[in-house]
Amino acid sequence: MPEGPRLVLATRNAGKLRELRELLRGRLPGLDVDTQVVDAESAGAPDVVESGITFEENALLKARAVAEATGLVAIADDSGLAVDVLNGAPGIFSARWAGKHGDDGGNLQLLLAQLRDIPEARRGAAFVCAAALAVPGGGQKVERGELRGSLLTQPRGTGGFGYDPILQPDGLDRSCAELAPEEKNAISHRAQVFEALLPWIISALGNPAGFR
Ligand code: IMP
Repeated sequence: MPEGPRLVLATRNAGKLRELRELLRGRLPGLDVDTQVVDAESAGAPDVVESGITFEENALLKARAVAEATGLVAIADDSGLAVDVLNGAPGIFSARWAGKHGDDGGNLQLLLAQLRDIPEARRGAAFVCAAALAVPGGGQKVERGELRGSLLTQPRGTGGFGYDPILQPDGLDRSCAELAPEEKNAISHRAQVFEALLPWIISALGNPAGFR
């Protein structure tokens, strides 16, 4: 029956942990997602410096460090906005593009100013997410997901976070901030990548020692 924690998510973000629990709920027999899937802080893991230069490298760095610090199977993600005309920037610097970590309004305004003269047809961009899994002393995996769209010239909508008000997914006529949470979750880069990682999570939890 449920014992202690089995899986740790390398984040201090309560929203990300909630999303992961919903994704795993009912899909890992014998695992109580509410008590056995935990965040890095409650598992006693230290903060990890994101010194990588790609989303994949940062996700792997965090998952590996947290797995070794806690002795538990660990997963981590790293995400951002990649703008075509900026050759993939802000990329891994998305959260602090305007200088201060997490300044969503400043980041978005700076990006809009930088792209002021770029016409609609050339404003392609994608939300990108890499998610990694690491087994303590053992194997690791990383997957990548993308939500492609184009950048608006003005923010629209009040939902979501970060760059949501300026990214309009391909095939839709609303920004991500105008989508209901379920609509965004059905197509998001983060949902795609954790879905892709799910078979690896199941396999790692089932047989950590044999996971390569
Ligand atoms: P992190 O993955 O928590 O490091 O977040 C990276 C940054 O990328 C966030 O602060 C946002 O600026 C941006 N970002 C990542 N995913 C999304 C999204 O789904 N919507 C809007 N912005 C996002």
